[in-house]
Amino acid sequence: MRIVFIGPPGAGKGTQCKRLVQWLGIPQLSTGEMLREVIGQGTALGRWVSGHMTSGQLAPDHLVMRMMSRRLREPDCQRGCLFDGFPRTIVQAQLLDEFLQRQGQTLDMVLELDAQPEVLVSRLLRRADIENRGDDDWETVQQRLVVYQRQTAPLLDYYRSQNLLVTINADQKPDEVFEVIQAAAGGA
Ligand code: AMP
Repeated sequence: MRIVFIGPPGAGKGTQCKRLVQWLGIPQLSTGEMLREVIGQGTALGRWVSGHMTSGQLAPDHLVMRMMSRRLREPDCQRGCLFDGFPRTIVQAQLLDEFLQRQGQTLDMVLELDAQPEVLVSRLLRRADIENRGDDDWETVQQRLVVYQRQTAPLLDYYRSQNLLVTINADQKPDEVFEVIQAAAGGA
C-alpha cells in the first residue's frame, strides 16, 4: 500500500505516519528527515539545504526527487510505503507519478490532515521548545504556512481529480485522528 500524507506543518503528519508504520508494517519516507540528514553531514550541499529550511522555503524539487527515488528503489519499499511530507509541489507529484508508473506501481490513497491555523501555530511553537528545530520559530512557522498554501495546497485538487483524496479533521486528539485514518486505510 502506498499512502501520501498532506497537511500544513503542525497537522501531525509525522506522528500519524509513525503510528501507521507500526500498523501496516511498511516504511515511512520523510523528505524532511532526509534533508535534515544531509544538513547534518556538514557539506556545502547541507549548508545550501539548511538555508532553504531555516527560511521556511522548500528545497528544490529535483534534489528532493533524487533522494526519494533512490530510497524508493530499496527492497523494503517494494511492498509499499508512507510518504510523509512528500510531494509538496505539483512538480514533485508529477515526478512521483512518472516514477511509480515506470515501476508499475500506483498510489492507493492521499490523506489530507486538515487543521485550523491557530491549532497549527500553537503546536509548532510547542514543538520548537521540545525539539529545538531551527525552522519552528514564530516567523519561520508563518512563512511555512504561507508556502504550504501557495505551493502544497494545489496538490489537493490534483489528487482529488484522481479520486485519491481523503480529508481528515486533524484538530481532534491524536488517538481520534488515528482511528479515522485506520478506518480509511483499512477500506482502501
Ligand atoms: P518537515 O520535516 O516535513 O516538516 O520538513 C521540514 C522542511 O524540510 C520543510 O519546511 C522544507 O524546507 C523541507 N522539505 C521537506 N520535505 C520537502 C519536500 N518534499 N520538498 C521540498 N522541501 C521539503
